[in-house]
This record gives sequence, structure tokens and C-alpha cells, in this order.
Amino acid sequence: MSITPLMPVYPRCGVRPVRGDHCHLISEDGTRYLDFASGIAVNLLGHSNDHLIGAIQRQAATLMHVSNLYGSPQGEHLAQRLVDLTFADTVFFTNSGAEAVECAIKAARAYHSHVGNDDKYELITFKNAFHGRTMATISASNQEKMHKGFLPLLQGFKYVDFDDLEGARAAIGPNTAGFLVEPIQGEGGIRDASDEFLKGLRALCDEHDLMLIFDEVQCGVARTGTLYAYEQYGIEPDIMATAKGIGGGFPMGACLATEKAARGMVIGTHGSTYGGNPLAMAAGEAVLDVVANPEFLAEVSAKGERLRGRLEQFIGNYPDLFELVRGRGLMLGVKMKAEPRPFVAHLRDNHQLLAVAAGDMTFRVLPPLVIDDSHIDEFMDKLSAAAASYDPEAPAT
Ligand SMILES: *Cc1c(COP(=O)(O)O)cnc(C)c1O
Repeated sequence: MSITPLMPVYPRCGVRPVRGDHCHLISEDGTRYLDFASGIAVNLLGHSNDHLIGAIQRQAATLMHVSNLYGSPQGEHLAQRLVDLTFADTVFFTNSGAEAVECAIKAARAYHSHVGNDDKYELITFKNAFHGRTMATISASNQEKMHKGFLPLLQGFKYVDFDDLEGARAAIGPNTAGFLVEPIQGEGGIRDASDEFLKGLRALCDEHDLMLIFDEVQCGVARTGTLYAYEQYGIEPDIMATAKGIGGGFPMGACLATEKAARGMVIGTHGSTYGGNPLAMAAGEAVLDVVANPEFLAEVSAKGERLRGRLEQFIGNYPDLFELVRGRGLMLGVKMKAEPRPFVAHLRDNHQLLAVAAGDMTFRVLPPLVIDDSHIDEFMDKLSAAAASYDPEAPAT
């Protein structure tokens, strides 16, 4: 047999982490890495946060899981907090980002179907988006590399250029149910939507009675310096998917909606065995305890500004290698003039620095939100050394 016991769908690198220590990861062979990847924007509180660990340990010893057939004091409490903190009136808890987006897609279709408009099922989505790896969420993305081998796709998605309001307007037709958009594209290369674009989508939705769905799976949960990125755009979605950082490393997600948007999500329409179980709720509560706090959020913005300023100054030394820095808060991207993957491998293998490659020639800088200036210094030192020793022509390790 030549297939590996772990289904070989990931191009896994040689780093094999076995332990976390705040903003560092320690591999099987004892090497210590500065983790500016955070499990792809997941470990908001770093790897050994006492508050999160304590909450999970206590809840694990009290009650890990019960069915959604029973009342959920734990779920009600966290849902109420999210309702109080956001645009939403109601929350469905999931175990991942893709499931949160799935719920959002179903809610948008059900919104129209509920009043007999079964023909309004189509979502307009945006090129180079990433919404997850289930059949519906790959269908929502135009990226053919995710479709190959899995056809036929789910029907009902139309792809338009990101940040192109006129294109979005022109794509509206008799079957349109709404828009699904990442306010800041993550996998697509840390590309943030313009104010005019998101405000324009909001206006189109109001005008045509369409659902505006934000996928904040990557940019949400304090990553950009506000609890959710939409707050910075001065508008609100009807439905929003959140996950990644929301459990701080515990698998968890949520679909948030207004009362109006959730009108079709009535008894029997949706479900999940694990979604919202007490253990996940304890993790979610612990993360919110830390991040849903104006001082913490202001710190994320300030650290993001400092890191961005340092990065911008630094890339000026290497105009042949780097093009620009973009993003918000601690969701930053460095657009390169060469393929980012070999450079990310060089950072990792030769300088013990973890970052994440993304689309559009960009690598992502997604540190835990609890970094301090010493981590920013360490990051800049490693990045500078890596750029100085980088040979784009050398074969990747
Ligand atoms: C990661 C991601 C998802 C998918 O989340 P999973 O937990 O991997 O299912 C969806 N949307 C965006 C924007 C993401 O970054």
C-alpha cells in the first residue's frame, strides 16, 4: 500500500509541531518557530492561554456534549452575547467555517423560499473568494483548482470581479437571492473591499430585497481591530459566517443573522449534531471574554499599525522582491514580485518563522492577537535575515 494513513490531500511541510508556547511552536525535533500563521488566523490567544485552557478543562469535566434535542443554557448564553455585540438577532453554531457558510447559503435561499419565491436561489459571489471545501462552498468560489474532479457543482452561483460594484449590479437577475462576499479576502491574498463596494452592495440589497452575506470566517473575531470587519465599513450584513478565531483553536463556527434574514430557518430546516455543544460554547465564551473588549481591540489596531509601518519601511530595501503591504489590523499581507511559496518555505526552514502563502503573489502575516513588541521585533529580525539571504532562483526546500 502506498497511500498514507492520513489522506494525502495536503502538501504538508517538514515542520511537525508537538507543543505550543504562547506565540511560538515547538516541533518534534525541538526546533522553535515564531508562529505568525496562528493555524491560519485561529489561535488568537496564542498557544497556551490560561483562560482558554481553564475554561475548556472545567467544561470538559462538567459536561462535554449533549444533543440539540435538549435545552442549551450554554448556547443561549453565548448566542446572546454575540447578538448583543453584533448586527445579529440570532445565531446557529457550527463546527467549522464551511458549515457556517453553508448555513448562510441555506438561510438566504430559505429567506426567499419562505414567502414562495423558490426561484430566488442564486448567490452572486466574487472571483478568487474562498468559502470552504464542501460542495456548496467550492461551488460558491470560481477557483477551478478546487472544482477539478468534483463536478457537477451545486447550481446557483454567479461569479463577478471582487470590488466591482457595477459588475455586481449588472449580475442581478430574476433568480438572485443575494451576495456572498469576504469583506477582506483572505486566501485570495488579503485584499480588502473598498467602502464604496460594500456600501454599494448594501444599497443594492436594500433596493432589490436581497440578502447581503459576509464571510468573516478569516477577517472576523478581532483580527482586524474591530470585533468584526464590517464595523469598519459603516454598514451591516443580513447574514454573517464566522469561525476560525472564534474558538481560539477549538473547532467552532457560527452563522449570525437578523430576525428578518432568518425567517426561513424554522424548526426542522437545519441542524448539526455537535454544533453549539457545551465544550465549544466554553471555548467561545473564553475567547470573547478576552477579545470583545475595547482596550484589547484598540491594542490589536495599534500593534497592526506598528507591524505594518515596520513592514512598509522594510520592503523599501528590497524593491525587487516585495511590492506592497496591505490588510487591516493583524490581518496583513505582503505582495511579492516573485512566487510567495518558496519565500514562505525559506522563512520557515531557514529562519524558523511561520507565515502563510495566499493568492495574488501574497504571503499572509497572521500573528496571534496577543503578540507584544518583542514578537514584532523577532518577526522583523527573522524577515530581514531571510530577505538578505534569499535567492529566488534557488530550488525550494
Ligand atoms: C477558512 C475559511 C473558510 C472555511 O473554514 P473551514 O473551517 O476550513 O471550513 C471559509 N471562508 C473563509 C473566508 C475562510 O478563510
